Amino acid sequence: MRLQSEVDELVKALGGYWKPFEMLAALVEETGELADAMLALEGVKGNGSREALVEEIGDVLFALACISNYYGIDLEEALRSTIEKYRRRDLSLDGD
Ligand SMILES: [Mg+2]
Repeated sequence: MRLQSEVDELVKALGGYWKPFEMLAALVEETGELADAMLALEGVKGNGSREALVEEIGDVLFALACISNYYGIDLEEALRSTIEKYRRRDLSLDGD
């Protein structure tokens, strides 16, 4: 994915990738922030905004792109594999 290259350039310009578990911690932290943004947008906890949700989705994707880059994994390929997995499993497109 082209955006992964941009993330890679930025991370390297900022001093390089964090250690694996630091990146995992960042992903978990951002996932928590995404949860807060969703709860706020749904009126469960405070008042949220679509802009905050967009920001947190971007943050989660950035953290995920860092982990993917570190391990040399193409995010688009991974997503395509998952789409295919659910398509086969839940739409029974495997001929079963
Ligand atoms: Mg965030």
